[in-house]
Amino acid sequence: LFPSELFDEAIALQETYKKLYVAVAGDEEWLYATLKNIIQSDTLAEMLWNIHTEVKEEGYVQDLTLGIFRSDYMLHSPSGLFQPRQGQAVQLRQVEFNTVSCAGGVHGNRVSDMHQYLVQTGAYETQTSTDVEDTIYLASSMLPPNHTVRAVVSGLSGAHRAYGAPKSSTVTRTCVLFIVQPRNFNIADEKPIEYALWEQIPPIPTFRVIFGSDVLAHTSLGPSKELIYHPPSRPKQLSKYSLEVSVVYMRAGFEVHEYDDMGRMARLRLEKSRAIKCPSILSHFTTFKKVQQALAMPGSLERFLSEDEAVQISKTFAPIYPMDDSDAGLCARKLAMDPELAREYVLKPSLEGGGHNVYGENIPKFLAEVPAELWPSYVLMKRIQPPILYNALMSARGIQEGPVVSELGVFGICLWRRSGADKFDRKEAETCTEIARHSKASWSFKTKDASVNEMSVVKGYGCFDSPALIDLEKFSACCHQSSMENP
Ligand code: ADP
Ligand code: MG
Repeated sequence: LFPSELFDEAIALQETYKKLYVAVAGDEEWLYATLKNIIQSDTLAEMLWNIHTEVKEEGYVQDLTLGIFRSDYMLHSPSGLFQPRQGQAVQLRQVEFNTVSCAGGVHGNRVSDMHQYLVQTGAYETQTSTDVEDTIYLASSMLPPNHTVRAVVSGLSGAHRAYGAPKSSTVTRTCVLFIVQPRNFNIADEKPIEYALWEQIPPIPTFRVIFGSDVLAHTSLGPSKELIYHPPSRPKQLSKYSLEVSVVYMRAGFEVHEYDDMGRMARLRLEKSRAIKCPSILSHFTTFKKVQQALAMPGSLERFLSEDEAVQISKTFAPIYPMDDSDAGLCARKLAMDPELAREYVLKPSLEGGGHNVYGENIPKFLAEVPAELWPSYVLMKRIQPPILYNALMSARGIQEGPVVSELGVFGICLWRRSGADKFDRKEAETCTEIARHSKASWSFKTKDASVNEMSVVKGYGCFDSPALIDLEKFSACCHQSSMENP
């Protein structure tokens, strides 16, 4: 169960979040000032910044960027109790904002479809046959439609169209290139997007290349920085088999271990190229948790948004502090090193992929092992106190019943032009409107055992799920009832 008012709020906020993150990606000066400490101490950040600087010196040749973002939320019960008192408001709190390689869209879509099917076939009716007054009968209308696959495809195909005809004189076709991780668990979350691109009319040729040496082996740069893809099954010297890449969709390249020499050279080639990147390297930087923390500092949002928009967005922020030697950072360091106070916090490095956070009482002893000069690359976030419901989870471990907690990830998809570049022409503007329209019903929903801190499904902590929407008051009553029945 999930409160419908807060589901609608999260979907509506996505427009403003997109605007914010596009603006931040366009503000190199602010990004550098915000990430300076990390760039100086973190290998991945330093490497990405060096690639950005190198490409900038040569001159970026593509003004368009595609963003496939995901803003993740938990519900927060402000009383600080895990179960909200009856009738008390529950609020939306942002866990993080992802701008690179956002996964789970396909799985989220499939699981929503599955639950819709099961409701329609009456699969849950026997479970609600008792005469309890407050029994909630699941109806198909309570399950919001999920069109994430369509939305992601509309983003990629829109960017592909915006790229236009091949610029190279030696190739005749363009294609979308997925840059993926080797032996990748996420393949099932990627393949349906590829298939859907091939199913467009006319089909959009789409290929996958493993990040690193395969990118170097199967692509080349043309004279005006066209990225040419040479399918491995065809002779590379025969240009009739080659395609020009319109869109590079990064589903890899967000973890430091991917950047050996090959990885670095591969990313550099992609960034130098004329292909539209999803995301651009500056947009990649905005996924760093340090950016989320800096945006939560008083007055920051107003640099990028109107006052009204800033108010709307900041309502979803949990307190989040730097760990540097600023006044706020020194306060946060005290909190983090105090075994009692630290229980209320989560310490996060600016890393992606799940499994890097340090929770509660583990923070002080973890920090004791980290050299103080590396502390500024962490942020300290107040724990969100989610209301707890009772439900069943099915995973590789079997079926577990008990207290659970859910997270809603709202996708936001947009194509934009670098600030200072020409405005969109009419056709491109129509493409953007079309992408925004599809983007509205795109989200994923995950549920985990309430006693687990992490959520990553790939790493085995959570399960894909879908929300059944009910009004906030009823939702609070259910949490209350859950806690009474299962103290
Ligand atoms: P990443 O996904 O990059 O590892 P997140 O910030 O999403 O990092 O944190 C991972 C998980 O940890 C979240 O999905 C959530 O379950 C939990 N978590 C993160 N921040 C908080 C918080 N402030 N309060 C409670 N749980 C949190
Ligand atoms: Mg996350």
